[in-house]
Amino acid sequence: MNTSLKARREKISRALDAIKDPLSGKGLLETGRIQGLDCGEDGKVRFTIEAPTGSERAFGAVRDAAEKAVASVHGVTKVTAVLTAHAAAKAAPTPARQAEGVAGVRSVIAVASGKGGVGKSTVAANLACALAANGLKVGLLDVDVYGPSLPTLFGIAAQKPAMRPDKKLDPIVKFGLKLMSIGFIVDPEQAMIWRGAMATSAVRQLIDDVAWGTDADPLDVLVLDMPPGTGDVQLTIAQRLPLAGAVIVSTPQELALADVRRGIAMFEKTHVPVIGIIENMSWLETPAGRMHIFGEGGARRTAEALGAPFLGEIPIDVSLRESADNGAPFVATHPDHALSKAFRTMAAAAMENAARAVKPAPVIRFE
Ligand code: ADP
Repeated sequence: MNTSLKARREKISRALDAIKDPLSGKGLLETGRIQGLDCGEDGKVRFTIEAPTGSERAFGAVRDAAEKAVASVHGVTKVTAVLTAHAAAKAAPTPARQAEGVAGVRSVIAVASGKGGVGKSTVAANLACALAANGLKVGLLDVDVYGPSLPTLFGIAAQKPAMRPDKKLDPIVKFGLKLMSIGFIVDPEQAMIWRGAMATSAVRQLIDDVAWGTDADPLDVLVLDMPPGTGDVQLTIAQRLPLAGAVIVSTPQELALADVRRGIAMFEKTHVPVIGIIENMSWLETPAGRMHIFGEGGARRTAEALGAPFLGEIPIDVSLRESADNGAPFVATHPDHALSKAFRTMAAAAMENAARAVKPAPVIRFE
């Protein structure tokens, strides 16, 4: 390659890497999204941008920006950028466990915890906002029969979902998310005593009888805020519902981690891929530095020991708690905050793990 072509290629690479991957916030080259970069002597440049399945919409703008950036490099006469779905997902565009028959929903992921009070609902709400910020169409369904908190987290406790002429419930739309809670339709006192099968049929009904999306305009992902724990109710939901993956939330102390192990075992038993462990309340920022109140690195070590992907740590943060109490999730109201970016990175990684967990069906050949 002659020197001027080499210099041009370097400039093109730099221009591409200056454009950020909307999922991880890193440069497009660094994240490996750019494939087959070809720079001809005649100034014609071609490359492919690989978007994970479900994120094609967000990547349309990325492709336009990439084309523009490369076109402005001296000596470039023509740019052709092709957007493709993630190679791993191409073989099987829909997750294997995907909802037989969940109309208008591409995939359902669960946010679970081994026990209550670890911040599962807070994480589920912010993760859902992060997925939406990453360009996906997102719904959040709170099926925590023991204490539905979505109405409070989103400040919609006073609202009632409306019934449409086709008898489907319209989800409540806020911060760009489609929201529904089991708390809207059943008396929590009654739901508390449900057995697994009853809870599962109520959850299934909420998945089926809510107008989440249409075949032409589906939700990319429906996030399920699960009831805490690993008992009969949770096991039946994990067994019967079409979950593409589960995210488990834990605090760092040893007792909570024992519950994480139980959670992982429950999802393994029901063949739901664990697509991430998130450690919440990892530390408190003090003038003297980080204080690891509940111990350090516990969830990461547990994830590593059990071969489950670790997504990241969330500190104890007063504004996270205040946002939850004020009905406006932190990630939606502070999009540029480092914590929101961390949520977006974790959300992207969880979706990638779900896509990777999809194994293409075996090809059977008769010869
Ligand atoms: P769970 O769903 O596991 O029962 P919640 O999400 O309801 O837990 O959280 C329990 C309480 O802890 C709530 O008051 C919430 O605002 C608070 N909380 C959760 N995560 C954090 C955090 N990282 N920093 C500060 N407060 C938090």
